[in-house]
Amino acid sequence: MWSKLVVDMEKATVERLPYDKEYLELGGRALIANYMMDLVKTGKMDPKCDPMGPQNVLIFCTGVLAGTNFTTSHRLSVGCKSPLTGGIKEASSGGYIAKLMADQGLRMITVHGLPADDKLRVLHVGRDGKAELLDGEDLRLAGTYEVVDRMRERYGDAISVACIGPAGERKYKAASIQITEFGTLHPCRVAARGGVGALMGVKGLKAVVIEKPDTPYKVEYADKEKFQAAVKEINECILNEAKKDPFHVFGTVSTIESTGTNGILPVDNFSGKLFKDYEKLGVKEFLAKLSARGGCNQRPCQPGCLVRCSNVYNDENGEFLTAGFEYETIALFGPNCHISDLDKIARMDRMCDDIGVDTIEMGTACGVAMECGKLPWGDADGIIAMLEEVRAGTGFGPTLGDGCEAVGLALGAKRIPTVKHQAMSGYDPRNTKGTGITYATSPQGADHTAALTMGRAFDDAGRAAQAYASNKLQVAISFSDSMMCLFAFSNVVPKKELLGDLMSGLYGGPADFSRVTVGLGVKTLLTERAFNKMAGFTDADDKLPDFFYTERSDATGSVFDIDQKEIDVLFDF
Ligand code: SF4
Repeated sequence: MWSKLVVDMEKATVERLPYDKEYLELGGRALIANYMMDLVKTGKMDPKCDPMGPQNVLIFCTGVLAGTNFTTSHRLSVGCKSPLTGGIKEASSGGYIAKLMADQGLRMITVHGLPADDKLRVLHVGRDGKAELLDGEDLRLAGTYEVVDRMRERYGDAISVACIGPAGERKYKAASIQITEFGTLHPCRVAARGGVGALMGVKGLKAVVIEKPDTPYKVEYADKEKFQAAVKEINECILNEAKKDPFHVFGTVSTIESTGTNGILPVDNFSGKLFKDYEKLGVKEFLAKLSARGGCNQRPCQPGCLVRCSNVYNDENGEFLTAGFEYETIALFGPNCHISDLDKIARMDRMCDDIGVDTIEMGTACGVAMECGKLPWGDADGIIAMLEEVRAGTGFGPTLGDGCEAVGLALGAKRIPTVKHQAMSGYDPRNTKGTGITYATSPQGADHTAALTMGRAFDDAGRAAQAYASNKLQVAISFSDSMMCLFAFSNVVPKKELLGDLMSGLYGGPADFSRVTVGLGVKTLLTERAFNKMAGFTDADDKLPDFFYTERSDATGSVFDIDQKEIDVLFDF
């Protein structure tokens, strides 16, 4: 039987309990939505509560297919009421920890309450399955790379770590939770968005360390043969499709080649201009640097991933610099700040991972700061210095650590690219309008991973289809976030109906795709929307910042001109 850990930070206790039967067919984002709503229904959480207060619960959970050999079934989802947006939050991450949770027989860890003292603690789950809260004071203000080194010294290499850096300890609203990657053990995979690291910081939990158990948990199948037949077919499909997928061949950096030419790549704080030097940040340059310096790509961040979009990026001397270096980081610290030096951006990526802060919030915030004259455009060293202030908690650091909106408000900016207080990622919504609709309506705040509809950008005749595309994809991503990595999901489309067979083979019942689309997709979105409504959000929050409606993109002449009425009925299923 699956278990869960219930951690009480006030009493400094950990209990291992049977996993709730009613959540058995839920995982990831769907589980978080249901669990949070159940907290509200049972009176344990006021949806309007202070996200940094005692009622908020930090949730770590696996996907619904955890423990199986279905590819990418070991994503980690981190959930809570977001310290950044004030709404519901699911921040998804790759890495090794969800696999070790499953091997330990754990589907969920919930962290409750606030500590009675100001001590830091580490949640440790040993190879014998024993879970305890240990003193973590010796890790105070340590960067995440140091935390991992210290945990490896203490427990060996058969571990995974989820931890916060100084940003989380300082309770900055853009603080992330860093997760160690399979193989390298670098803390470069990230539950990045919504300030989940701030909540971990306020709870005084510096790290969660899970050891590989002596005896891995054995999953019980309703019909193992049926499950394995479906896995074989879907995994083959994903592998075949992945071979044609630029994310597999090059990683997400490959996106620069298309967004750099069509006005989607954000330039100079979402000005709508084109960036002539985008190729300096593109695949050719990236791969040349990897091969000349002994880096690599096509790495899996979790065992069994067939897409393998991860990478290791070394510096000029061939020394390790960063890993899991992604398009969004390059786009937002790059063209959005008028920077074309890949090595400097890689250094910013490493700093953000070590400090434990979301690169999307930081890159977008730096673009706003530059527009307001805080730094000159293109001043990479100035950004590096400001990130040091985030680490140290000095100067502009506390403001930057609270993210893009905090920076914009502090500097009197007129153009702040956020929705529901969360920064937009590396896609200009004037030129990918479906993605703009996603930014406006996702219960998660501005978030490309909620439904990136890129590719339909300039089809005015099909503009009405943009709302449909965003809606359909938001449903699909909701169920993908509950069971697998979305980069594998984009390769599963020809066999997607077999996801119903997986649910049936694992849990019994009909092999019905609607168990996935409705049960994990539509219901999750509606539950999240209902939570946000009770937290105080209204239709007025489903809107982009004004400048996207009025300022034309130089690249295309477009503004964001989707009728608000279409947006307001997007989730009237
Ligand atoms: S596709 Fe990329 S992000 Fe997804 S599990 Fe594989 S390596 Fe990790």
